[in-house]
Amino acid sequence: MRALLAGARRKQTSLLETARRLVLCESPSDSKSAVDACVALAAAHARNLGARVRLHRQRNFGDILEIRFAPRPAKPRAQSKPILLLGHLDTVWPIGTLASMPCRIRDGRLWGPGTLDMKVGVAMALTAIELLLEANLLRREIVLLLNSDEEIGSSVSRPVTESIARTCDAVFVLEPAQGLAYKTARKGIGNWRIDVEGIAAHAGVDFAKGANAIRELARVIVTVSGWTDLKRGLTVSVGVASGGSKSNIVPASAWAEVDVRIPRIADGARIARKFASLKPHDQRCKLTVTGEINRPPMERSRGTIRLYRQARSLAAELGFTLDEASTGGGSDGNFTAALGIPTLDGMGAVGEGAHAKHESVVIEHLAPRTALLAGMLIG
Ligand SMILES: [Zn+2]
Repeated sequence: MRALLAGARRKQTSLLETARRLVLCESPSDSKSAVDACVALAAAHARNLGARVRLHRQRNFGDILEIRFAPRPAKPRAQSKPILLLGHLDTVWPIGTLASMPCRIRDGRLWGPGTLDMKVGVAMALTAIELLLEANLLRREIVLLLNSDEEIGSSVSRPVTESIARTCDAVFVLEPAQGLAYKTARKGIGNWRIDVEGIAAHAGVDFAKGANAIRELARVIVTVSGWTDLKRGLTVSVGVASGGSKSNIVPASAWAEVDVRIPRIADGARIARKFASLKPHDQRCKLTVTGEINRPPMERSRGTIRLYRQARSLAAELGFTLDEASTGGGSDGNFTAALGIPTLDGMGAVGEGAHAKHESVVIEHLAPRTALLAGMLIG
């Protein structure tokens, strides 16, 4: 591990340069051409390292980049399946963000849109693999899968991620660390929408003929919010609501969008049943409820704990303490963990401000974390 750390320190400048090139290539999820340009950059870098590169072309989203590094020397250890390194190249930042959030090094950090989430993580993965290639330590196949739609729900990349994950022994997710910790559990995420149809009426002349959709919605909001169970870590949050048109009209329509977070896979069906059983208080109002759990939770499984313990002991060899953490946020690791593939998350950069103006990565953690990633890939 010490040799890997020395190697990672030697490569820190080139790691930062790789990250900077990726950040300068702005790649919002909703611009296919922009994300594809960033995909092309990463693909060229991987080809230079001798990887096999395959593009899963998409019509409306950026392409999905599948990079395979064959073991060297060519004889792999008996029957070891590949390890999947999972990341994404899209960001939440629109084109032109660099003008107000320049990519630069200051105060021991690399700043800029998409640094922490997660272009530095991608650069760390490429650097870790380069270290192993140079030291002849790549003893099993590594698949680096980079998608272009993570920030908008991974709807097109999910099946690709799942089918590759099924062929792998373990999944390492390159999302940022939680503070300094790796992530061993993530909540599942669901989205529901509630539409209320009432009866419009003049608020003065025909008040009693009206069925107020906003009032009905307000009652429903109180009901669904009451399903929150903080002790269990289950939350139901109404995030957007609207209704009506003018104050002197009893409103005929109102709607709300609801964010649901669940700690356990089994919670999904339970909460879905509750939404399906919602009934109007005012019988003249009609409720339409749509939605589902779209990211299953990443539960703290035995396989994940085993990976975490392995990482913790390698980190100790490197001279630092590695904690584990859980989070309410989702990642593509939710999908692979739900398939039963041991998944360890938060293996990318350490920093602050994902999706925020102060997005940045702490440079002093780059070399140790890259060495740790390399150590985990040796397995
Ligand atoms: Zn991310």
